[in-house]
Parts: sequence; C-alpha cells; structure tokens
Amino acid sequence: MAIATNLGFPRLGANRELKRAIESYWAGKIDENALLRTGAIIRRDNWLVQQKAGITHVPSNDFSLYDQVLDTTAMLGAIPERFGHEGGLVSLDTYFAMARGTVGDDETPSVPAMDMTKWFDTNYHYIVPELEAGMKFKLSSTKILDEFVEAREMGILTRPVLLGPVTFLMLCKTREPKLDPLAMMESILPVYEIVLKQLAAEGAEWIQVDEPMLGMDLDDRERSAFGLAFARLSSASSSLKLLATIYFGDLRDNLRATLALQVAGIHIDLVRGPEQLDEVMAKLPPNMVLSIGLVDGRNIWKTDLTQATALATKAVSTLSSERVMIGPSCSLLHCPVDLNLETGLDAEMRSWMSFAKQKVREIAVIAAVAGTRGVGAGALLAENAAAMESRRSSRRIHNPLVEDRAASVTPEMYGRTSPYEERQPLQKQSLKLPQLPTTTIGSFPQTPEIRKARASLRSGQMSPTAYQRFLKKEIEAVVRFQEEIGLDVLVHGEAERNDMVEYFGEQLEGYISTTNGWVQSFGTRAVKPPIIFGDISRPEPMTVKWAAYAQSLTDKPVKGMLTGPITMLEWSFVRDDQPRSDTCRQLALAIRDEVLDLEKSGIRIIQVDEPAMREGLPLRRADWAGYLAWAVECFKLTVAGVTDRTQIHTHMCYADFNDIIESIGEMDADVISMEASRSGMELLSAFGEYRYPNQIGPGVYDIHSPRLPSADEMKDLLVKALDVLGADQVWVNPDCGLKTQSWEEVRVSLGNMVDAARSLR
Ligand code: GLN
Ligand code: ZN
Repeated sequence: MAIATNLGFPRLGANRELKRAIESYWAGKIDENALLRTGAIIRRDNWLVQQKAGITHVPSNDFSLYDQVLDTTAMLGAIPERFGHEGGLVSLDTYFAMARGTVGDDETPSVPAMDMTKWFDTNYHYIVPELEAGMKFKLSSTKILDEFVEAREMGILTRPVLLGPVTFLMLCKTREPKLDPLAMMESILPVYEIVLKQLAAEGAEWIQVDEPMLGMDLDDRERSAFGLAFARLSSASSSLKLLATIYFGDLRDNLRATLALQVAGIHIDLVRGPEQLDEVMAKLPPNMVLSIGLVDGRNIWKTDLTQATALATKAVSTLSSERVMIGPSCSLLHCPVDLNLETGLDAEMRSWMSFAKQKVREIAVIAAVAGTRGVGAGALLAENAAAMESRRSSRRIHNPLVEDRAASVTPEMYGRTSPYEERQPLQKQSLKLPQLPTTTIGSFPQTPEIRKARASLRSGQMSPTAYQRFLKKEIEAVVRFQEEIGLDVLVHGEAERNDMVEYFGEQLEGYISTTNGWVQSFGTRAVKPPIIFGDISRPEPMTVKWAAYAQSLTDKPVKGMLTGPITMLEWSFVRDDQPRSDTCRQLALAIRDEVLDLEKSGIRIIQVDEPAMREGLPLRRADWAGYLAWAVECFKLTVAGVTDRTQIHTHMCYADFNDIIESIGEMDADVISMEASRSGMELLSAFGEYRYPNQIGPGVYDIHSPRLPSADEMKDLLVKALDVLGADQVWVNPDCGLKTQSWEEVRVSLGNMVDAARSLR
C-alpha cells in the first residue's frame, strides 16, 4: 500500500458558492465576515471529502479567494507601489484591488489592476506578480498558517501547498528592464523560511512546494536557481519534509538538477510524461520519496485502474511502499467538482467519467491496491475494467464511417485548387470590394433580450418557431445597421450563439455538454467546456440557414462564421483514447462539410476563427514543430474544399502570434484579421519582416476598452499598417467580436472606423 495524496482541490464549490459570495461582497451586499465564512465552509467540505475518500496527504492553502499566485504575492508583501499598501497584513480590499484594479472618484484616482495571463498551458489565468526595484519583502499574510491550523483543529493534518520561489520569480514581470527577477531570490527566501518555521512549529510534517517550471525549458542559470533555493528552504526546519512538485511537463534535461534537490520527495506528472518513470526510479536517491501523478487532473475521464495500479505496483516493488505516493498529475483545480451532480447525463456516459470528487477516490484506490494485486478491491476494479471496456468498444464512441473518412483523406484535400496569387484576382472580380475593405469579426452585441429569448427557449416558455422568428428579426436589424453605416463585408451577428464552441458542440455528434461542469478560469469566473467523447460528425448544417437568410437581405457579401477545429479542440475536454491530432482531424472534416454547404448556399466569404491556435502550442520548444504541422494541416483540411472564388478568412486574438507567424502564413487563408490595437500594431513588425503574402486586417480598435476611439486614431493605426503592408493587402476591422459591447458603443466606434477607411481611400 502506497501513500494516497492530493495536490489541490477545486475551490469555487460544487455549485460555485464562492463565486456568488465574492461577487456579493464586491457589490457590497455581504460583509467580509460573511465572505470568509463561505470560504471556510468550502474548505471544510473539501477537506472532509478528501479524507473520507481515503487521501492521507490532504492539501491546504490550495484554497484561494482569487488566485494562488496572487496569494503568494500577498504572502511575500510584493505589493506594487500604486496600491498604497502601508505595511502590515494585506487587507482583503488591497488583495482584490490588485486583482481587479479600483474605480476612482473625485478624490482618489483609479488604479489599474495587475496583469493576468494563462497558467502554463491551462485555461486558468493567474495574476502576474510585478517586481519593482527596491521592493522590500516581508511576510504579509497569515493565510497559509491559518488554513493549516483550521484543518488541524478539525483533526486533519494537511500538507500545506506553497508556490515555490523559483517558479514564482520566473512568473514575475518587471517594469524596469534591467531588473532581473531571479536576482531577487535572496530577498524573498527569508519570507519563505519564516513561513516554513511557523508551519513546523504548528506541527506540519510535509510541505508541498510547487515548482512546475522544472518541467519546462530552462537555461543553466535558471536550473541552478532551484538547487540554491531548496538548500535554503530545507535548512529552515529540520522537522519538515519538502515535496517538490513538478507538473504539466516531464523532467527531461532537468532530471539531474531535480534529483539533486535537498528535498524529501519529488512529484512527477505521469499523464504528461509517462515515459520518465523508469529513469526517475533508477536514478532516485535512496532517501527520496517519489510521488507519481497517475490520475489526470486536467480531464474528466475515469482513470484506467488496471493500468494505473500496474504502474503503482511497479513503483512500490522497485522503491518500497513507504517511498511511493500516488496523486493526481497536477492540482484538480482544472477539473469540475462532482460528477454526481450531472443528472442530465445517462448512466453509461457517467460510467466513463470522473470529476474531482471521484478522482480523489480513484487515487485512494490505486494507493491501497498498489503492491497487493488488488486484494480487497476486486469489485471496484472489475467495475472500472467494465467501464473501460465499454468505452473501448461502444458504438456511441466509435463511428466506423468517421474513422474510415479520416483514414481516406487525400493530400489534395489539404490544398486550395490554385495558389493565392491566382485566387486573389478572381475574388477581387467577384466580390468587387473597395480598397481597405471594412468588416467586423462576427458577433454583434449579445443584448439582454437575446439572452432572455435563449433562456425562454430552454425553459420551454418560448416555442422554437417563436425563437426562430426572434432571431430572424435580430439578423435583419444587424444587416440593416451594417448597410446604413456603410460596411463592405457584412455578418449576420451570431445572435443564435451562446458561445463560439458550445454552439457547435451542441450540434456535432460526438460532443456532450454538462450542466454543472464548471472549471475556474480566473477569479470568480468559470467556464463549462463541452466534452468530446467520441468520433465527431455533423448530422446536418449548423449555420447555413442563418447565413443564407442574412445574405438574402442584402446585395453586399455576407461572411459565414465558423469556429475552427483547433479552437474547438482547445476549448473542450478532449478524448484521452486517441491523439489530439486525430480528434482535430475529425473536427476539421465535420467543419469542412459546413464550409462547403455555406458555399453551396451562395455565401462567398467564409471565416473560420482560430483564436486558440497559439494556446495549443506545447510548453517545450522541441515539441512545437510537431503540433504546428498538424494544426496547420487541420485548418487547411477545413477550408481547402472551396473554389478559388470563395474567399477564406480566419481570425486570431489575445496572444502573441509573432513567433508562429510562418505557420500562420502556411494556413494560406486569403485574409486574416488579428487583434493589434492595444499594442499599437506591434504585430506588424513580424508581418513586415516575414512579408506576409496574403491579406490582413490588423484590428484598429480594442473592443474591451470602454473608451471609444476617434476616426483619426484609427487612421493613424492604419497608416502604420500601410507602412509595412501593401494597399491591396490591408483590411479594416475591430480587434475581436462585438458581443460584449453595447449598441451605443458599436454605433460610434464602427461609424468612426468606416470614416477612417473612407478618408484614407
Ligand atoms: N467570431 C467570433 C466573434 O466575433 C470570434 C470570437 C473570438 O475571437 N474569440 O465573437
Ligand atoms: Zn477574437
């Protein structure tokens, strides 16, 4: 029997209780005590669930009122000047101010929030710590200690989780370019040491020190920083045992440095890096414990216990049971809380899945069974094996038509009939667009009326016919508006779409949605990704009637709008029984059918959005080329079936695309629109150097900003674009879709945008 452990549990609560409490606190509807009480209840429930499931090392300090990186910033007292923190403990309001900024009034100016960015390659976003020259670090939060004591008083000796000092510093940004985060190590370590001493004094035994950076590409200096840091941390207290946790990546060239750390144990992610187990075990120092992450913390599938227990047994027989811990691959923060709430899923579908509450039970079972050949768990293992077998063979999952079709894709299907230089004049002739054509990215404001209509349809208060009528009216209004202000390429406005992935997921075979499968995205925000469980196909057209209806109302070209295969893949829970590239290819074929149906219905411009193209990029550089090759192929497979005259657009936003610009070129879209206004057209430097061959619409205004830009401002940005790109290459459009804007805003900004284009022409 090995030691059952967990690295972290979702913290919004099974019904997102914490979200509601925090938002009520922000709105002034509840006070600090009421908010803290809700937090305490969630922590207690989470600890008890894990204890009851059989977890020995239950984590604490995995809870957060906003974000664990921000918690670490507060712990270290690394509060940027502008928040006016005057020493002492960081107050709740300062904490939230860092996360969200503050709105000023007559006397006090508003303070901008700290940046937020993606946590490695997950869809969780953390608050980026800011280092300032001369920053003094001082223990400024008692959270980690308080939560440890809180659990201890319930009789649960937890394993506190700390974000490690090296990963913390590597996530920091600095305003002054000369400031080197790693050089601040000496200044932050004393705070870590105090925290560890306090925890030891309160009776802590194991401390989990998260250092996911050890699974990433590092240079020598970064790698050696870990050795220095852990030498200091381990000497803070002789009674503590440190577990360095590495997840999201495998150790590769960081293996030696990791095994040389002064720690009592290391955790490795065997879901992301299954091949590393043998080498790690062979080289593990004799006094070190190995924690193996066998249960996927980032997906919703039931763990194959036959496979997992075989690996656990192998580890136990190689290292002995005292030296093996069983855990999730990473914190369970990235999966939903409780499968039992999914009463809308049928029993068979549920038998294939496992959410956080079910996953901690799996961990305990694997740990109990390791080395015992399944003694005492026969029934459970048999049930699990039956679920695995049904997933392997179910007709709901495996559709021979889809699999045959994917297997018979021919090389010609990836390429347009003619190269861009030949397509371009044909499209020009048939579309008759002016120079600097104006368009939008697809969505128009999702008004309260639209949301209400959708909700009424769901609850049965509105009939499907009435809903269709409602949508047609919306589309007509959007088309008339675009004609009035003089846009050149129109859209139907996407009023029918709740979400750009969910909308298609609901119509594709092989996809299923949950009712409560929320995963924290940032702060109080959660997303509910749809689940790809089986082979993907498209039973019938998904968007054609809306696009065709819009086109029937106008002589101007209406652009058909689709979500691309890579974005569908990235923003869904995906199958773990086949490579991502295979699933992506199936998505590509299904969306290809839609592209061709749109073309057949008379749509002459089709946009396939791929905002998540960059997100799919592997964490290690060495793996980039492999991903980019199949991602580009899947995009081309989606769009390449159309005739030369049909113009293909794509759209990308909110990521740095400069280092994958050549792959974006290889996608060979006739036109790409990209977010660019916030950075003052920075992306053009890459497009200029690389000489992007096709047409491009660099966004001329930020749709997230409440400030409405003037025509002159947009003209200035376009002039910058025309410095780098040819006059026949440039399109004029906003940064992204308009669904979060109001009609008042859209009227002004799009009007100014059209003016800017006209005056430049
Ligand atoms: N067509 C989508 C829209 O306009 C694109 C959204 C996105 O890029 N995330 O809403
Ligand atoms: Zn966008």
